[in-house]
Amino acid sequence: MKIEAIDCYYLSMPNILDTGDGSQDALLIRVQAGEYVGWGECEAAPLVSIASLVCPMSHSACKPVRASLLDQELNDTADINRIGNLVRENSMDLLQTDHTQSGVDIAMWDLMGKKLDAPVYQLLGYKKSYPKTPYASLLFGDTPQETLEKALRVRADGYKAVKFGWGPFGRGTVAEDEDQLHAAREGLSQDGLLLVDVGTVWGDDVERASQRLKAFQETGVTWVEEPFVSGALDSYRTLASMGGDIKLAGGEGCHNYHMAQQMIDHAALGCVQIDAGRIGGISICKRVADYAHARGISYVNHTFTSHLALSASIQAYAGLEHDTLCEYPVESQSLGVDMTQNHIERDANGQIHLPEAPGLGIRPDLLALEKYLVDVEIKVHNQVIYRTPTLPATA
Ligand SMILES: [Mg+2]
Repeated sequence: MKIEAIDCYYLSMPNILDTGDGSQDALLIRVQAGEYVGWGECEAAPLVSIASLVCPMSHSACKPVRASLLDQELNDTADINRIGNLVRENSMDLLQTDHTQSGVDIAMWDLMGKKLDAPVYQLLGYKKSYPKTPYASLLFGDTPQETLEKALRVRADGYKAVKFGWGPFGRGTVAEDEDQLHAAREGLSQDGLLLVDVGTVWGDDVERASQRLKAFQETGVTWVEEPFVSGALDSYRTLASMGGDIKLAGGEGCHNYHMAQQMIDHAALGCVQIDAGRIGGISICKRVADYAHARGISYVNHTFTSHLALSASIQAYAGLEHDTLCEYPVESQSLGVDMTQNHIERDANGQIHLPEAPGLGIRPDLLALEKYLVDVEIKVHNQVIYRTPTLPATA
């Protein structure tokens, strides 16, 4: 069967705030081949990704992503990899390509799972999907008091692991950050796993990062995530050598396999974090998970949006028994929750399991999405090259 349609839907909250919350908008992708439909999600500015799908060709290595998708044969999992390589070759100089292809790749795996009547993790070669321990992913409060209250709330809700990130952390004084860390630890109590996400705020400045090491150690932080931008390999390595037991985590900024490989090999990471909606989809996630596993580095998903994205992000390491943590969105906007009819809920032990249904096992809620749909029209030479499609009646 051939890929007959690639539809994309720009979804957004009514107001976008200048915060680190990536769940405020989304680009939902629908791929149709024969009688099958698959769904995926891109984790990047939706309009830019739409443009990369439909833009006029600039030159032979800068074609619109859609040109390498429509009419392609999609009969088995090898076709997904073949199509991904074709997209990367034909759109190599279009920097949004990997982001856009992420949603397409995820949708193709969902579609193939439905065709072959198997969950995606089985198509990736895993016999079993192991339960994961979700860590509640939260933004730091504007004040230590607010952070304390958030930590108390998720602790009372049964989470044993919490990650605080972004917000004011790292932007003010060392003392202000120390107060934030102690507030987080107090709210979480001594036995909770505390993770901190610095959101690349220090660029590549090791000095500023190292000034906080004592507080990270005193508050028992398990990992410090993205102290620096992806690719600042020397800074990562230097900080890791000073950090004692504290692990560094990073990798969400990687938007291709080789970037992740460099981070694994040269950034002294304890844990590599990959976003399926950025790096090129489930196909690339699986390559990274295999590489990390072979080198004894933990793999964890990066997900702050919907449960469609969550399911997609877990598939690549579902069968890695010892990589037990999972980023779990608990603060997403209503769009992130409303996007799907079903959700990956915690069980009585506080763990989560991938759906055992075919594909990703998560169904978009098309009726609920109507109110988030952004009306877009792109014209070139007075010809409409993209117009927001109507949402189909069924998923
Ligand atoms: Mg992060």
